[in-house]
Amino acid sequence: MNSKPLPGHPHFAYRGNELFAEQVRLSALAQQHGTPLFVYSKAAMLAALAAYQRGFSGRQVQICYAMKANSTLGVIQLFAQAGCGFDVVSLGELTRVLAAGGLASKIIFSGVGKTRPEMRAALQAGIGCFNVESEAELEVLSEVAQSLSLRAPVSIRVNPNVDPQTHPYISTGLKGNKFGIAHERVVQTYQRAAALPGLQVLGIDCHIGSQITQASPYLDAMDRMLDLVQAIEAAGVPLHHIDLGGGLGINYHGETPPQADQLWQQLLAKLDARGYGQRALMIEPGRSLVGNAGVCVTEVLYLKPGEQKNFMVVDAAMNDLPRPAMYQAYHQIVPLKPNPTEPHTWEVVGPICESGDWLGHDRHLNAQPGDLLAVLSAGAYCMSMSSNYNTRNRAAEVLVDGAHSHLIRARETYADQMRLEHLPFPSSSAAGEAPAH
Ligand SMILES: *Cc1c(COP(=O)(O)O)cnc(C)c1O
Repeated sequence: MNSKPLPGHPHFAYRGNELFAEQVRLSALAQQHGTPLFVYSKAAMLAALAAYQRGFSGRQVQICYAMKANSTLGVIQLFAQAGCGFDVVSLGELTRVLAAGGLASKIIFSGVGKTRPEMRAALQAGIGCFNVESEAELEVLSEVAQSLSLRAPVSIRVNPNVDPQTHPYISTGLKGNKFGIAHERVVQTYQRAAALPGLQVLGIDCHIGSQITQASPYLDAMDRMLDLVQAIEAAGVPLHHIDLGGGLGINYHGETPPQADQLWQQLLAKLDARGYGQRALMIEPGRSLVGNAGVCVTEVLYLKPGEQKNFMVVDAAMNDLPRPAMYQAYHQIVPLKPNPTEPHTWEVVGPICESGDWLGHDRHLNAQPGDLLAVLSAGAYCMSMSSNYNTRNRAAEVLVDGAHSHLIRARETYADQMRLEHLPFPSSSAAGEAPAH
């Protein structure tokens, strides 16, 4: 069959007049599992990882998948079996890595608000490194480690103060945001860390933002990091590794971020030129490993043509796909079975009682109630940010592997949603006892 891959999504292609994930027809998955349904391509995830691996070939590097992008166990298992470590931001994420068979020694623990119980559990599990975000956290971590007669392996997150030129909510490496240690305080913070009895200083890290589509912010960050490494080591604190974080963008709507291997060629050239070519490296990519490996299949429920706007109501909503409502993000929306007649312009919206519940503005589509659409680039920060708002069950997830598909998360049930709740009052069967309204 003639196969036409979607531009920028090589593992999703029209064959005949039907959209496939690898060799599996998406409409067949929707029929089997219902909608909304997340479908991921294993080959797309491994291809994204391979781009990083190519970029680093011959170097000492640990790729830690930033699993908050998509924390489903099946996705974690896939990356664990491909040799990845994990960047976690909570004890919940750490627990997921261990449940999926990932190694504790390849876990790094980031985040500005680690609690003592989280530190204790991570130390007992034997994680590889804590990425510490404040001077106060260093003191607490040292204390917790000492209480367990352990030394916590640490890296300090520094704020290199470079502008990643991305959305302000996902920009994290500028002065004036809550992440990392300010440039001017870095050396003294390292000296303090080296003096604390419960810590073992391993490295330095930064993470400058997300959905970065240019190489220049990374090159600037690398320069600032190397300046800091030089200053820290001159002050007597040796560093084992340099961790440049994640943040590489993907093509949602015609963006052209550098390919991971090309970006790292440039970064490694800088590292070599400055004499740090032998240094162990770490990276924490999230979105760029999974974002374009997933789609969300949704069914058209109603068409509401109007005087000013035409609304297309679909069964996926902001609780499933929060990025448009949260960041005004763009996701491409395509039909599973294209219809050759003239398209109309639609506001594609979900069923939730919020005006912010939209998935796409001004989309040229031709679809009828019952037709299926695919929301593209839905592999990152969709399912992992989903909620039960409006008491909607969270969607099911399927991982496609060639001609096979695995249900990696069943659709939630209403019983699942209510499982932890309790009615506070004795039930009353007499109608007369009900409060009057
Ligand atoms: C979110 C996050 C990442 C991953 O970011 P992406 O943009 O998804 O690559 C990496 N490191 C840290 C510390 C993060 O908070």
